[in-house]
Amino acid sequence: MQNVLIVEDNEQNRALERQILKANGYQVWEAADGVEGLRMIEEHTVDVVLLDIQMPLMDGFEVLHQLRDNPKHRDLKVIAVTSFAMKGDREKALEAGFNGYVTKPLDTRALPDIVRKVLSQIHESQ
Ligand SMILES: [Mg+2]
Repeated sequence: MQNVLIVEDNEQNRALERQILKANGYQVWEAADGVEGLRMIEEHTVDVVLLDIQMPLMDGFEVLHQLRDNPKHRDLKVIAVTSFAMKGDREKALEAGFNGYVTKPLDTRALPDIVRKVLSQIHESQ
């Protein structure tokens, strides 16, 4: 079973993501902020992270930078989740080193598709 870590400050979004991912057969871990998310990556087996961009204290870009700066987690698959599709957001996220990108409101079919796609990607050097 593959492990997904959800890092999302909004409880309702977290619950929806959990529901979709569990229904698709994933083991789900959850964190309510970036600090907790980084800690959980150290403590658990995580195959892919679903990382909210807009979070208080530490946004998704900062969490990603910390992962990419760490040799242990440099190749971890990370999918950006943002509240609205601003023009250029997708490019910005992919340039920053995210492996994939989804927008809220979440599409219950698109989410498992992108998770599956990112998990099957071959590692590219960052
Ligand atoms: Mg948020």
